[in-house]
Amino acid sequence: MSMQSPNSTLNPGIRSNRLAAKDQTDPKDIKGTPMLKQYHAIKAEHKDCILFFRLGDFYEMFFEDAKVGARVLDLVLTSRGKDPSTKVPMCGIPYHAAENYIARLIKAGYKVAICEQVEDPAEAKGIVKRDVTRIISSGTYLDENSTDSRVLICLNPNKKDIGISFCDPTLGTIQTNEIPFHTPKIIQLLTKLPVYECLYPESKTEAMKELFNHPSLKLKNIVLSPYDDWCFNPDIAKKSLCEHFTLANLHGFGLEEKPLATASTGALLEYLRHMNKQPLQHLDKVSLYTDEEHVFISAAAFYGLELNNLVKTLDHTITPLGRRKLYSWFYHPLKDIKQIQNRQHATKILKDQAGIQKDLKNLLSKIPDLEKNISRLSCGYIHAKDLLAIRNTLAELPNFKKIIDPLSNENPIFQMEDIPDLRTYLLKMVNEDIPLAKPEGKVICRGVHDDLDQLRDIQENGRQWLKKLQEEEIKRTGINSLKIGFNKVFGYYIEITKVHAKNVPSDYIRKQTLVNAERYITPQLKEYEEKILTAQDKIINIENRLIHEIRQEILNQSLALHQYCENLATLDVLYSFCVLAQSPNYIVPTVTQESVIDIKEGRHPFVEKNTEYPFTANDTLLDCEENHLIILTGPNMAGKSTYIRQTAILVIMAQVGSFIPAQSARVGIVDKIFTRIGAHDDISKGQSTFMVEMNETADILNNVTDRSLVILDEIGRGTSTYDGLSLAWALAEHLAKGKTRTLFATHFHELTSLAELFPGVKNYNVAVKEWKDKIIFLHKIIPGSTDDSYGIYVAKLAGIPEQIIARARHKLTELESTSRGRNPIDPNEEQLNLFTPTPDPVAEEIKNSLENIDIQNLTPLEALNQLNELKRKLEKDC
Ligand code: ATP
Repeated sequence: MSMQSPNSTLNPGIRSNRLAAKDQTDPKDIKGTPMLKQYHAIKAEHKDCILFFRLGDFYEMFFEDAKVGARVLDLVLTSRGKDPSTKVPMCGIPYHAAENYIARLIKAGYKVAICEQVEDPAEAKGIVKRDVTRIISSGTYLDENSTDSRVLICLNPNKKDIGISFCDPTLGTIQTNEIPFHTPKIIQLLTKLPVYECLYPESKTEAMKELFNHPSLKLKNIVLSPYDDWCFNPDIAKKSLCEHFTLANLHGFGLEEKPLATASTGALLEYLRHMNKQPLQHLDKVSLYTDEEHVFISAAAFYGLELNNLVKTLDHTITPLGRRKLYSWFYHPLKDIKQIQNRQHATKILKDQAGIQKDLKNLLSKIPDLEKNISRLSCGYIHAKDLLAIRNTLAELPNFKKIIDPLSNENPIFQMEDIPDLRTYLLKMVNEDIPLAKPEGKVICRGVHDDLDQLRDIQENGRQWLKKLQEEEIKRTGINSLKIGFNKVFGYYIEITKVHAKNVPSDYIRKQTLVNAERYITPQLKEYEEKILTAQDKIINIENRLIHEIRQEILNQSLALHQYCENLATLDVLYSFCVLAQSPNYIVPTVTQESVIDIKEGRHPFVEKNTEYPFTANDTLLDCEENHLIILTGPNMAGKSTYIRQTAILVIMAQVGSFIPAQSARVGIVDKIFTRIGAHDDISKGQSTFMVEMNETADILNNVTDRSLVILDEIGRGTSTYDGLSLAWALAEHLAKGKTRTLFATHFHELTSLAELFPGVKNYNVAVKEWKDKIIFLHKIIPGSTDDSYGIYVAKLAGIPEQIIARARHKLTELESTSRGRNPIDPNEEQLNLFTPTPDPVAEEIKNSLENIDIQNLTPLEALNQLNELKRKLEKDC
């Protein structure tokens, strides 16, 4: 087991985004071309980024950035300049392919600063002005190719408390709160949110590195971004938040008494604005994130129950909006019975309406990632496809309303507000048939802007207009061979053969003489030429102006649009629930305040879907009286882990509001779910498998309540049998004395004797059948205990070579026959040694001697002799 310091650079979980900070040259000292001086001045402001420096149709990287770029992006590293001593390393990418390269750099943990030409090169005096127009990092990246959530979190700790703010920059809400600095709680939050980047005050770097060294977080490769301390000043933050949301104070957000949360929200907003160089109007809400409403799922449980895979299995959503919401619901199961029942009720309504389901499916399949379209506009990406997506999605709003309005009488979850003004405006303004491959000039509808329409007429009808002019001029001059042509030097001209020169009208201006002909222009032709040649530029100018107006109209309505997104996402999740509810043998669980979990014929949705054999359903009964601790024993591979996880998963599904795979179920609300499943080393932090196991167990013991659900899959296997068994016993005994609903799967069958000592403990085992020399796993949970492990049999199934298996069998027989009474492998004997007081032979002998003395008839001398005899015995044996 190797030991490394927490600050080890080998720690794969902590990636600095300051990897590019090597170009430290002061711009004043730079000798070289004006362009290189400009580069260094801009780079000096963006030391922690890879700078994409726009030169014509390319983004170029120079110096260290070029070396990193060449390595990460697989580009050829070239150089600029002839003199080997001043050669500048460089590499580049075509600007139109930048998205793909940016994605790769972000994935590798870098930040990218996009530096554009910010003035028209034709109008530039000297070197063209350039500036950074956007910085992209892992947490601020709007990934076009992914519909997953991507969360940027901001932590602002002091000694006692911590302000936490987070948002998916795709969405419109920043969530925040201020809580006591309780490491497991923070880890839990960071585990369940899809955090890509974490912001914190630079002065707290060491503490944050320590926090992110946690095994659950290291798996997530979160980019750590220390940020200027002044941004975390609560007064500055408050002012900036009030300005952004045009508020007089932060009462409405519940932030007035929360300086740490105010500061983290302010810093988060400041960072996002700094990165996007935009005011970010789509960020239109701050809401208090209160975890009290939701079940606490420990970080270990999140991974142990494979929640991610579970949601993947249960996901029948159609839109990216719905998919994100489904994950969010599963990571935040509810504790409020009314809210759970409301979701169940809505699912039932849809389930009974086949026609509505079909219509809903059709409509939802037309819905793009509307939240992302809005945020892209807000972040300054102005693409026709985002406008079109918003237009088309709003166009469907009345169709959604038509379907769900009748349902809203039964359940208000189906209410949806129209946004008629914006909808009508967009339908009027944005062309339904924008050719997305080449949208320039074709974004705005006809009939919106007179000049735009005329310019388009000129462009589209130019050929006809010229033909008409030609006919008119032939008529006017009587020269049938007159024709209108175009060349690059003179533009449009009228060509007349020399024979007809005498008939040329006086307003014709001669421009060019050929062997047989003369070429002329007229003021009318020149005027038209001007129009036709500049039409495209003018069209694009007018369109851009209008597109900016449209963008502004959309962002002005971002709150209403986000509400529409929210409605669509909820509808989609309910549709997904409805599909699940129609799966064979899925039922509505009864949720109750009683402390009970009573599931009949429950099934594990994930294993059931993925196992090739029929899944065996099982019952679970847990309550706070007779059955709060189930000790589950059984052979390897029998299905113990599956069963105990299944119980937790069914509880989560029930509290999310979903139907569940069972025959019937009564689920008493659970406040926290803890698991201790499997084990992994954390060698980079100097933690062994056993240490990790004990950390997780300590977390459970310190935080569990009577309303929690605890799933323990083996405790104490990572140490010596005595130590492990003693710890498992002590833990089980502790839980047996409480009321927490617990499932404890173990191979220490000694623990089954707890059922005799505590009324709330029940033993169950998993049935197997021995047939010839085979073992058949029945996967059926039955009352009672077993001490059969069939470990060697399972090892054989796993492919351990036959000679090893034979040797193991031999050794097992030998151990069983020779070490009875002392051998820790013999559980019955061992239990006696460990948990019942073993009689002391010396004490026993002394006791016997004393009992045999007849004090009434003992002479003083005999008494002295007896005393002497006892003393001698004691001295001899000790
Ligand atoms: P070990 O003690 O070795 O960890 P285990 O008793 O915990 O084993 P599981 O890992 O739960 O056993 O199950 C082993 C396999 O048995 C699962 O991968 C699954 O394919 C199958 N299985 C488990 N439960 C059932 C069931 N109820 N019905 C059908 N197959 C099941």
